[in-house]
Amino acid sequence: MHYISTRDPNHRVSLSQAIARGIAPDGGLYVPESFPHSVPRDFADLTELPQIAERLLEPFFAGDPLAAELGAICAEAFDFPVPLVPVPGAPAPLSVLELFHGPTSAFKDVGARFLAACLGRIRRDAGRKLTILVATSGDTGGAVAAAFHNKPWVEVAVLYPKGLVSQRQAQQLACWGGNVRTFAVSGTFDDCQRLVKEAFLDPALAETHELSSANSINIGRLLPQMSYYAKAGLELWRETGRRANFIVPTGNLGNALAAVWARHVGLPLGEIVLATNANATVTDFLRSGEWKPRPSVATLASAMDVGNPSNMERLRALHPDFEELQAQVNASLVDDIEIRATIRRDSHELERIWCPHTATAAKTFRRLLARGARGHWVVVATAHPAKFDEVVEPLIGREVPVPPSLERLLALPRQETELEPTLEALRAQLQGR
Ligand SMILES: *Cc1c(COP(=O)(O)O)cnc(C)c1O
Repeated sequence: MHYISTRDPNHRVSLSQAIARGIAPDGGLYVPESFPHSVPRDFADLTELPQIAERLLEPFFAGDPLAAELGAICAEAFDFPVPLVPVPGAPAPLSVLELFHGPTSAFKDVGARFLAACLGRIRRDAGRKLTILVATSGDTGGAVAAAFHNKPWVEVAVLYPKGLVSQRQAQQLACWGGNVRTFAVSGTFDDCQRLVKEAFLDPALAETHELSSANSINIGRLLPQMSYYAKAGLELWRETGRRANFIVPTGNLGNALAAVWARHVGLPLGEIVLATNANATVTDFLRSGEWKPRPSVATLASAMDVGNPSNMERLRALHPDFEELQAQVNASLVDDIEIRATIRRDSHELERIWCPHTATAAKTFRRLLARGARGHWVVVATAHPAKFDEVVEPLIGREVPVPPSLERLLALPRQETELEPTLEALRAQLQGR
């Protein structure tokens, strides 16, 4: 299997190269040259996530040096549960796919851990250490820091906008130490992103460091996310004999794209509905056919505050015809007022506590039912509500129990360096001056 750029099918690389590069030289995103085809019977003897992932991903690794180690990579990355939990009191058959049982309590742990497992093997014989630079608006930095912490072949620098992430997110960014350095930048997320881009272009840094990113557009983060859709789809298929429908909280569209790819290769998933926050780029596009990226607006579901979702380029590469694309996915916009009301209502009526991101999917479920939707639905839960206690607790009027993995991180000392938003300041830090 080879990987091509969304912008140029003649640019063709191996999986290892696509993972090591992150983005294609022409600015396009790597996609599989062709998709394999599976049927549920191919997974008949399998019930556990690492084994389902290995079988699903085998053709995507075919011919690559990593192929021989795919089993070990899956075992390393998928070492926490991804349960499908029924919601008995719901007004229609409903399950929650809980993606928040990893080290930093959000679904990004899956992709970050898989990427670390791949990169560690790709870099095994490299002479130099890799330096991973991550700009984060909240969840990505923590997941990447956790996944790469204490790996001897890599240094990590996390840049986040000081004061602009939740208290517990800040703690998850700064609690690592060792090979992870956390910079609280006096600026915005855009400043952090700009600094990372400038660092990549800086000749002085290129002399002393081999820089890389662990950006969410890396194919090594996307492929493993197909696995939990495969597992959940198969589970409900075996139980009910039908395809379940999935509602995915969506920002940069990486998680939802993995669901679309899983269905495309033949796994039993029914409808796929993208739940967005007030950022309307995706919903407007699916209505009008006009792609109009715009600056992001801040919402309670901050990890989904994306005005120009990168992975739409991959979705459009899969379905270049707009009407065809429209037939593949629906989208539904949920604003902050609805997010608040849904968290409040479902904590009473369904005894489920949602994080603000997951609440967009829960609201969409009720909206679809009101319009006559049928079948079994799955709300994809992307983060644990305890991560967003400042939003959730006042709404539900009680404390959100903190999962043990998060509790452990909250107890660690915070280690971070304040940073002016300039390349000179970042360079001086990285070069130890
Ligand atoms: C990153 C994130 C999202 C958005 O996922 P995309 O793949 O960018 O669409 C949703 N919820 C949470 C909690 C996240 O951290």
